[in-house]
Amino acid sequence: MTLSLIRGELPEGQHSQSIPLTMPTTKRQLTETSGFAPSRLLWAREHRMITRSELAHAAGISVSAIAGYEQGRTTPSRSTQEKLTNALNLKPNFLSLEDLEEVPAAAVSFRKASKTPKKHQHAARGDARMAVEIFNSLEKHFKLPAAQIPALPRFKPADAAELVRAEWHLGDRPISDMMSLLESKGVRILSLDHRYSDVDAFCFTQDRVPYIFVSTTKSGERQRFDLAHELGHLVMHSGDDEYPNSKEREKEAQDFASAFLLPASRLYTQGMHDAHLDRILEAKAYWGVSAMAMTYRLHDLGLLSDWQYRTAAVELTKRGYRASEPDGITPERSQLLYKVFHSLGGYRMVQDIADTIGLRREDILVYLRDLVMRAV
Ligand SMILES: [Zn+2]
Repeated sequence: MTLSLIRGELPEGQHSQSIPLTMPTTKRQLTETSGFAPSRLLWAREHRMITRSELAHAAGISVSAIAGYEQGRTTPSRSTQEKLTNALNLKPNFLSLEDLEEVPAAAVSFRKASKTPKKHQHAARGDARMAVEIFNSLEKHFKLPAAQIPALPRFKPADAAELVRAEWHLGDRPISDMMSLLESKGVRILSLDHRYSDVDAFCFTQDRVPYIFVSTTKSGERQRFDLAHELGHLVMHSGDDEYPNSKEREKEAQDFASAFLLPASRLYTQGMHDAHLDRILEAKAYWGVSAMAMTYRLHDLGLLSDWQYRTAAVELTKRGYRASEPDGITPERSQLLYKVFHSLGGYRMVQDIADTIGLRREDILVYLRDLVMRAV
């Protein structure tokens, strides 16, 4: 992965954590406008998952006034802004910074949209907007890897997966670190807020930069599969926002992930025909997928009969492999975020980003949760 500091190269051989802090002297600050950014008020309210009337009550302002501010029809005075930021637990200048970039609602899709509460969907879409802010801010300090995601919109999932493997020179080997692989190809990855566990991983593309929010509460195997699933969306469905939540698209992304993590050519030659459970468990550890995903793939390729598949699935369920992943792998971490947040001093770097985009430090840490090894 190429990650270079724009200002202040790391001294040769020195471990990043021991580097004295060399923050750029010209910090990027979003322009503090004399006015007010309606998109920020809406973002903050949805992020806190409260209604207009709840905010009105907390801030001592009328509901209609809040509607007017959010819609940009009226501008709150300084003192009103202060009431709002206090009620929303934000920095005083949060609402007067530049408007947030628009991320089209259709760009963010949810696996189980009909079952995901609207307030969770709104908050997750808000996270997408904030991800753009966070990475734009980081790019003032670092040159991050450029996006290299092949666009294969009309390909079958299995073919698309094979082409991406070829394009990235992966051969038919197991993917040792799915997260780092994606980061090295320019994907910006952040952690999904644990408050809405019903929102699965999701991805979107903004200004040709791909982003993925990944759930960090799952097993390492499932997290890798989610990343591969989202890669499938980026490769096959980017720019196709007409039916963002269609079942076919979900099935395509699942099939892509399965084919990408478990290349057919290798499974055919690996002696996986009629594999018994022990062999399946051995193989799933080798490929870094869940036992269920391994079994599904073998059946899908015709290496297990229907009966063998059902028998294996029943036995795996009995052994606890449906609910979790016994003896599973450790979830992957973000090498990119680790490098970014530790090369200039973790604590100060998080604080700097928080100051730049007008959030509290705790709000930034939610996006990094479980992705960066040490507390920053
Ligand atoms: Zn999906």
